[in-house]
Amino acid sequence: SPKSRPGLLDGLDPEQRAAASAPRGPVCVLAGAGTGKTRTITHRIAHLIRSGHVAAGQVLAVTFTARAAGEMRSRLRGLGVDAAQALTFHAAARRQLRYFWPRVIGDRPWDLLENKFRYVGQAANRVGLGTETEVLRDLAGEIEWAKASLISPDDYPAVVSRTQRDIPARSTQIAEVYRNYEKIKNSAQVLDFDDLLLHTTAVLEEHPAVAEEFRDRYRCFVVDEYQDVTPLQQRLLDAWLGGRDDLTVVGDANQTIYSFGGASPRALLEFTRRFPEATVVRLERDYRSTPQVVTLANRVIGAARGRPAGSRLKLIGQRAPGPEPRFAEFEDEAAEAEAVARRVRELLDGGVAASEIAVLYRVNAQSEAYEQALTEAGIPYLVRGGERFFARTEVRQAMSALRVAPADSAVVDLVTTVRSVLARVGLTEQPPPGGAAKERWDALLALVELAEELASTVEDADLRRFVAELDQRAAAQHPPTVEGVTLASLHAAKGLEWDAVFLVGLAEGTMPILHADGDDAAIEEERRLFYVGVTRAREHLWLSWALARNSGGRRNRRRSRFLYGLIPEEHPAARVARSQQKQVVVKTRCRVCDGPLLETMEVKLGRCGRCPSTVDENLLEKLKAWRGERSRELKVPAFVVFTDATLMAI
Ligand code: ATP
Ligand code: MG
Repeated sequence: SPKSRPGLLDGLDPEQRAAASAPRGPVCVLAGAGTGKTRTITHRIAHLIRSGHVAAGQVLAVTFTARAAGEMRSRLRGLGVDAAQALTFHAAARRQLRYFWPRVIGDRPWDLLENKFRYVGQAANRVGLGTETEVLRDLAGEIEWAKASLISPDDYPAVVSRTQRDIPARSTQIAEVYRNYEKIKNSAQVLDFDDLLLHTTAVLEEHPAVAEEFRDRYRCFVVDEYQDVTPLQQRLLDAWLGGRDDLTVVGDANQTIYSFGGASPRALLEFTRRFPEATVVRLERDYRSTPQVVTLANRVIGAARGRPAGSRLKLIGQRAPGPEPRFAEFEDEAAEAEAVARRVRELLDGGVAASEIAVLYRVNAQSEAYEQALTEAGIPYLVRGGERFFARTEVRQAMSALRVAPADSAVVDLVTTVRSVLARVGLTEQPPPGGAAKERWDALLALVELAEELASTVEDADLRRFVAELDQRAAAQHPPTVEGVTLASLHAAKGLEWDAVFLVGLAEGTMPILHADGDDAAIEEERRLFYVGVTRAREHLWLSWALARNSGGRRNRRRSRFLYGLIPEEHPAARVARSQQKQVVVKTRCRVCDGPLLETMEVKLGRCGRCPSTVDENLLEKLKAWRGERSRELKVPAFVVFTDATLMAI
């Protein structure tokens, strides 16, 4: 067979190379963050193509977020591979469905559902359930989980009764809402995200001729972040494979962060049971982060409970030492955000590019304070949730305006035309001062920049060509980049990396999120999310929290339990914590068997912010003996710490 061009595999270590150069067939890479999993699969794709084993057009690589798919595409481009598809599961399914639809379903593919809550609201209304936003959000989440887990409305109550899911209404009611929702949605002829996968799977499973054509077209499958696959995605993957085994998967069970949505690392961990002849590679060298960040990451995940076998991998840092991670406590969120903006400014002045800096938070609502602080400091930032770029009102308006613009515009080269068309939908010369208006402006400007890019790379770029490019990007959920500091949720940051990462809002109630409290599985998922955050940093890592939400507000927040054992002893936050004697209510769990202690009781205790030691047996005995008493003072030696695993403070 033809030899691969020299050099392609030189940038890989021996284990990575073994995975990248394995012959066609099942390959599995199980490894921690930053060990080069994505690098290995992109090199594998390039290698298979260059060595003539497969044509670029026959490769389908999938991952879970649009940004991660974008990252894969840009790495593939860097290796000279343009034609291989690297998409999210949803984008791939959407593209395929659009192609098959006229032949097997009807004339025109149904549109994507834009406002899911409206339909869920109608469905809930019929069942007599409340239609407040939170209720609808929970119901929609439950429906998504059921669909992703391949559970029908009829089966839902029975399945739920077997699990310990915390559900927002009676299971029979939820099943009825789910049933109504499907009916309403189908009669409106629209599809939700899960339908894209369900329909594509059904087409491939039920139409042999279509499946055969598809299988002829795609021969080599690659899945990044495989730990987050849902049963529905797995079923689609199986339909794609159709009994073949040309499948490469990579993942890290410690980064499973979508199990609330039905994802599970089981398929990753059991890959060799399914494909006994698979090439399996484990990687432990961390090429991304400084040893300081790696040490912190190992501690974070080392404290995790119930890790499945096969996920207990320790990372070994490969890079030269860098700065120590910084921990910082603030009076309130505004002070925290201002300090972050100041530090970002320092990094920019020190030569770090804005695109190499990210501020990551647990929930999108947290971004506001940072947007404001960065705007005030005159620092450009990237609008969060770039995946939604094409769903933005002004972008949709811009695209329809561009579509109907006169075709003769090619005569003026392209950028001027785009600018003048976009002026009609609100693109002003100067940017508005800030807030939502500035975000809209940035989105429109990003379109102009894309036109500039196209004009400079394609010789006869005209408006028609530009609109086609936009359509293509919209289908692939590949938004144009806006230069600036990234603001993103931890979920959206998976698979990505920056020189400097700010993990903010590390207070109880936010990280871990409030509703995870008291639910061991949910807490572990939050911990993995924190681990994902820590491992995004190449060099500078900042971890901060605020004691109050508003300035002058009550200082009723505590720093995150995940910080226990991470903050260096000499840090003021650690000293404060050690000297604190605080009255709290604690729930206890048995250290031996992890069973819950029968009652909740109040004790006085001191918290240590430093070491991760667990409560000793004597103390547990004492607590048991005091069961039933209302309150009692307990002097706790400074070195005893109550971790969430042993005692959970409320
Ligand atoms: P995650 O679990 O976060 O997705 P990953 O395992 O996919 O991480 P990559 O993103 O592929 O890791 O690699 C992390 C960083 O380390 C990248 O910048 C990559 O280029 C670099 N890297 C990986 N392997 C090597 C290597 N053998 N030599 C030099 N740099 C490497
Ligand atoms: Mg990766």
